[in-house]
Amino acid sequence: MLKLNQVSARYNMLTGYVKAVDGVDFEVRRNEIFGIAGESGCGKSTLLKVMYDLISYPLEISSGSVELHSLDKKGEPVVYRNGGIHKSWWKDISYVPQGAMHVMNPVAKVRSQFFDTISKYHAVKDKKRLEQEIEAYLKELELPPEVLKAYPHQLSGGMRQRVLIALATFLHPGIVLADEPTTALDVVVQRGILTMLSQVQKKLKNAMVIVSHDMGVHYQITNRMGIMYAGQMIEVGPTDQIFNAPQHPYTKMLINALPKIGDNSQKEGIPGTPPSLRNPPAGCRFAARCPHAAELCRLVAPERVGVGDDHYASCHLLH
Ligand code: SF4
Ligand code: MG
Repeated sequence: MLKLNQVSARYNMLTGYVKAVDGVDFEVRRNEIFGIAGESGCGKSTLLKVMYDLISYPLEISSGSVELHSLDKKGEPVVYRNGGIHKSWWKDISYVPQGAMHVMNPVAKVRSQFFDTISKYHAVKDKKRLEQEIEAYLKELELPPEVLKAYPHQLSGGMRQRVLIALATFLHPGIVLADEPTTALDVVVQRGILTMLSQVQKKLKNAMVIVSHDMGVHYQITNRMGIMYAGQMIEVGPTDQIFNAPQHPYTKMLINALPKIGDNSQKEGIPGTPPSLRNPPAGCRFAARCPHAAELCRLVAPERVGVGDDHYASCHLLH
């Protein structure tokens, strides 16, 4: 569906480049929920923007390519590449940015946000019919039709997030990207949002990409996932393998830091901080925090290697 080939992206700042995404290579497949995990600032949100082709100054793609595979009106295969993916926004690919409040127009009712967004990308011939379709879709997603009459600030955070997900999936895009869809919501509301996302995915049989720093989110709804560290994707594999048999030392530490049932001991985070993305180190980017770091790690960046069925990681220990 969506394929990233050695993609690097950077922020062109007055003081130099911030290399937020470096040589990222993976694909998102039809009928799966793919998760992207990692600490804040590791490049997850930037990567999602790159996938959506939402590139504007100071962000730029410095190398590599993104391909969106879809079907044209006649049902023939078509490939959109970065720079052209925006032509298929909402129809083939949609994006739910982080922070549902800021994304919506505060002075427009939800109804007009639906109308404006849909008519911008899709020829609307019959307004009345569109209205009925929107209402029917909201009902299907168990959202009360009254939300259409509300202004964004009149809705709870969870309801706003649901409305955005409904909007992003209304035209049945083949792929939906969501950035931290549950962050800043309480646990019960979070669970509702995750259930909604997986129900929508099952219904549309499309692909979904969920960015979250919360490993619990990935455990609950993703099928495969990638772990990012300092702008690179250091491990990709089926979610159950990532949790049960993590291979990269960073992934192992992330999994070990998760609370386990029946274990009340205080879990410690991973000591240290990630390197600066202005001037990242030459070798393995995790070397400064890795308990297994050796001389080679500081000098040479590890290549990606297969570590199991459909499971890859980048670490010298695994070669
Ligand atoms: Fe640790 Fe070396 Fe592996 Fe990097 S390459 S994660 S420093 S063992
Ligand atoms: Mg982010």
